[in-house]
Amino acid sequence: MAILDVGKVDKEFYYDGDDLGAEIVAMEDGRKKTVFKTWSPLATGVYLNLYLGGRGDNKMETLPMQQLDKGVWYVELFRNCDGYFYTYSYEFNYKWPRNETIDIYAKACGVNGERGAVVDMRDTDPPGWDKVERPKCENACKAVVYECHVRDFSIDESSGVRPEYRGKFKGMTQSRTRCGRSETCLDHLKELGITHVHLLPVADYATVDESKPEVPQFNWGYDPKNYNCLEGSYSTDPEDPKCRIREFKEMVMTLHKNGIGVIMDVVYNHTYYTEESSFEKAFPKYYHRTWKDGSFSNGSGCGNETASDHLMYRKFMLDSLKFWATEYKIDGFRFDLMALHDIETVNMIRDELDRIDPQLLMYGEGWTGGESPMPADKLAYKWNSYDFGRVGLFNDNIRDSVKGGTFNPYDLGYISGNRNTASILRRGIVGSVPHYQLRDANEACWAFEPTQAVNYCEAHDNNTLWDKLKISSSNHYSPEDLIKMDRLAAAIVILSQGMPFLQLGQDFLRTKPRLLKEGETPDETNIYSSDSYNAPDFTNSIKWGRKNDYRCVFNYYKALIRLRKESGLFSMSSKEQVEKHLQFLDNGDWNFIVWKLEDEKECYVVALNPYSEERYLNLPWGIFYRRLDEFGYVDENGCQGYVRCAPMSATVFKRR
Ligand code: CA
Repeated sequence: MAILDVGKVDKEFYYDGDDLGAEIVAMEDGRKKTVFKTWSPLATGVYLNLYLGGRGDNKMETLPMQQLDKGVWYVELFRNCDGYFYTYSYEFNYKWPRNETIDIYAKACGVNGERGAVVDMRDTDPPGWDKVERPKCENACKAVVYECHVRDFSIDESSGVRPEYRGKFKGMTQSRTRCGRSETCLDHLKELGITHVHLLPVADYATVDESKPEVPQFNWGYDPKNYNCLEGSYSTDPEDPKCRIREFKEMVMTLHKNGIGVIMDVVYNHTYYTEESSFEKAFPKYYHRTWKDGSFSNGSGCGNETASDHLMYRKFMLDSLKFWATEYKIDGFRFDLMALHDIETVNMIRDELDRIDPQLLMYGEGWTGGESPMPADKLAYKWNSYDFGRVGLFNDNIRDSVKGGTFNPYDLGYISGNRNTASILRRGIVGSVPHYQLRDANEACWAFEPTQAVNYCEAHDNNTLWDKLKISSSNHYSPEDLIKMDRLAAAIVILSQGMPFLQLGQDFLRTKPRLLKEGETPDETNIYSSDSYNAPDFTNSIKWGRKNDYRCVFNYYKALIRLRKESGLFSMSSKEQVEKHLQFLDNGDWNFIVWKLEDEKECYVVALNPYSEERYLNLPWGIFYRRLDEFGYVDENGCQGYVRCAPMSATVFKRR
């Protein structure tokens, strides 16, 4: 096959209409018709197949579609097709068999996403949906993000959620659930004080068989199948296309009513099936990037990478994000392997989201999973951050400086005794923007504004912080000391400038125990999962009893979040503000990091003591009190001059 000339296709056939997909349209006489439109400029024929069901042998009819300008094909039926299922068959060079596939623009689908479903979206709105508003969020630094997986959240019986809702969208809507004396699930989110839940992919993905809800199955969801449909296994009835839509909206509505925003993790960077994907079937070799010889490139490490620089894939991403943000009132997006998207597209997405609501959050991974044919200076890599400064990036510098490198389980960080990371850490504390007191560790000074720095030390990838601490400490430390280290890590992430990001359960020492394979000898690394993408509930689900066991840790995280929200000094949104109001205090020890946050009204001093012994610091003028001690409590007693900081802890002082 000749290599596709994408430049020529984009020039001659770029289509800017907003009507691709299946749409139910009101006619002048009040009756409804259904219009189907798809784009495939080089097809020699496109056919619409209508079905009665989402699977099975129940085809109703096949209709030829008519070619319009710009490679668009269309057919309209003078009836309301709400409830019908459909696919398209694309024919190239008059060859048989035609490529039958689901519409890439399908907004709803049958079980396992094999066929699109025509849906009257207004019929999926729960009562009161039109009145639901997004919780206010001034800028990214005001957010405290909590990364959750829908199944992990409530599948374990300790969640206290009704059995039929466990592991589903519905499991995130039930209130007054408990495990012993601890609040769980939705009530836990409120108690902790986070502002946004960030959901691991909830768009339809490939590898969980939705037709077998009784079989325990798990996947993170980075195996995308239908980008505009919801994942069926999170609904109580995957066979009914409207059920998942309605239940997801109920979830968004419940979270919004409780002041919590919803961020979607989106995986536009690759398709799960490559050659067999709906994109490839609709227009071969257009939507994916290829090498010069026409073979698929694999910048995602998952077999291929999509081509955001090809205009109709860029448009697809923009249309899709706009759809989620408006139809579902989503509050933000996290882009998986964002560096596979070109900078121009990333900025266009930011502009589009701004038009919908400037407070929508947007951040992503500033790296790829493999080599891309696209020049590195055109892609949204972290090192190009200034070219897309309004978009957040995961701060791997602060992550690794806090707990040690991710790829070596034994590597130590600031909290676990590595004294060489303080310079990188200081860069993280100021939000990774330039600061007059910092000169070295330039690689960790990359953010255009603090709003760009997504600070974290635990996410779904790699070992949990707690497991990493257990592995890397090699039994040199007591559990009490490890808890101190965990709390110190949390204080760094939550009290640094930027946007703090936590993983569900991190606040009660989440662990991911592995089921050993037969013949495997247990050692300190293999008993924990560092890549639990398809691991069973045993590994992934939240065991809410841990919240009872580690109540002191939870209370500390909660106290940190409350402290962060108490003053704007912890969430400054510009580098000028940080430069003006944040000053490191010199105490003769570069590793005993102390900084002052001060404006006309308030003054805080934050001290990080990574040592196993206590340390003393000299407070600035005035009478202070301990706003946050090593356990997260307030100590009202006034103090001044030289004050004590407990071993392996953060202490925050506030001027009276
Ligand atoms: Ca699915």
